[in-house]
Amino acid sequence: MQLIFEKSRPGRGCTILPVCDVPEVQLPEQLKREQPLPLPELSETDISRHYTALAKRAHGVNDGFYPLGSCTMKYNPRIDEEMAALPGFTGVHPLQPAATVQGCQKVLDTAKAYLCEATGMDDITFQPAAGAHGEFTGLLLIKAYHEARGDLHRNKIIIPDAAHGTNPASAVMAGFTVVTIPSNADGCVDLDALRASVGEDTAGLMLTNPNTVGIFDSNILEITDIIHRAGGLNYYDGANFNAIMGVVRPGDMGFDVVHLNLHKTFATPHGGGGPGSGPVACKEILRPYLPGCAVAGDSAPKLQVKGFYGNFLVVLKALTYMMTLGAEGIREACEGAVLNANYMMSGLRDLYPVAYGQRCMHEFVLSLEQLKKETGVSALDVAKSLIDYGMHPPTMYFPLIVHEALMFEPTETESKETLDEAIAVLRALYELAYSDAEQMHQAPHHAQIKRPDEVQAARHPVLRYQR
Ligand SMILES: *Cc1c(COP(=O)(O)O)cnc(C)c1O
Repeated sequence: MQLIFEKSRPGRGCTILPVCDVPEVQLPEQLKREQPLPLPELSETDISRHYTALAKRAHGVNDGFYPLGSCTMKYNPRIDEEMAALPGFTGVHPLQPAATVQGCQKVLDTAKAYLCEATGMDDITFQPAAGAHGEFTGLLLIKAYHEARGDLHRNKIIIPDAAHGTNPASAVMAGFTVVTIPSNADGCVDLDALRASVGEDTAGLMLTNPNTVGIFDSNILEITDIIHRAGGLNYYDGANFNAIMGVVRPGDMGFDVVHLNLHKTFATPHGGGGPGSGPVACKEILRPYLPGCAVAGDSAPKLQVKGFYGNFLVVLKALTYMMTLGAEGIREACEGAVLNANYMMSGLRDLYPVAYGQRCMHEFVLSLEQLKKETGVSALDVAKSLIDYGMHPPTMYFPLIVHEALMFEPTETESKETLDEAIAVLRALYELAYSDAEQMHQAPHHAQIKRPDEVQAARHPVLRYQR
């Protein structure tokens, strides 16, 4: 497929600029471009076809089932987009006088109240633009807290080996040393290993509960207590908040700071690199260190991790989502996510062994180790085969502690029929692995893009068109 730049023809175009409503100013010569900006020039027809063709090559939630574990690829109601498209919200500027943006202020205040209530925290910042950005910010709060107490030797963050990869990465970026602790046979925190790893140098713990294998760690109060007694703080990775929202709160589990992925749990489509939001909520003790917009009269400069109030429109979508669902609906969404995951897991576990536990929360992990040994068909082969059935592959080879892992997160917005179909397809693929493994090694057969070189794509991404 040709890039839009390659389709460009000089002189072709379809821009109709509005009449200029501000005084025209001539730029000084030294600021002017020497060459015209090389923008693609296409007719409206060609642009429309170009983007339609691109959309057809991708798989979105509007195309079909998208059970990508840990990523929460659920359907986002249109009304959330509609609210975020209201001109009163899209047309504001963050430097406008406060008196003219009281509506936006109300949005932030209300979203803050709801999210603090849902997480059991006291305050929040909306600045971080994604989950990993929130982790980094939350860890800076922990760091600032210890520093303010003169506790300068607390430089270790404890993270279980099942954690999302962003956790250790964020800890290192924030200047900490990571201490990895093993999971026990249930996929949960090994309490003895945890006790052995805390000490005078413990800054804190990073944990997600339910963890990345979809199990709720019932020792959570003891875990957070071990950290507190050692003088550390507890960080909750709330990226997959749909697993617990409306049912349990990180604040009540002993956590001091949490980030949420509004773009996963709270109705912003994601995956294409669009705007996200990873607000960080914290308990009173961390409030002084929260980032924020400096306002006139501030005594000390505030930590700032992004401009102004973060991705405001994503917060607005989250607020719309919460207001349309209400407290009851939020809980129902959570229960639906957990029910769907358990339903799907139950329909598969006699063929594909579940890595941990009898019951899961919002997601579950299958191990295809045995299947691979017996047939040569790998987790990758099964994942790729799903594409031919109009389904997006699940998360593969994660968490690292499970061999030949496939991690499914069906989400709450899928119907029983969709889950039944996915179960049937996966069961048929299991049979196919024994009868025609070769066919699965070659899958997908009907997709435009089959098996791209993922290492090359990750190590040498080409993100910019080079003329
Ligand atoms: C998605 C996810 C993250 C990272 O969120 P981003 O917005 O992609 O940076 C962190 N932790 C967990 C458990 C996640 O699922």
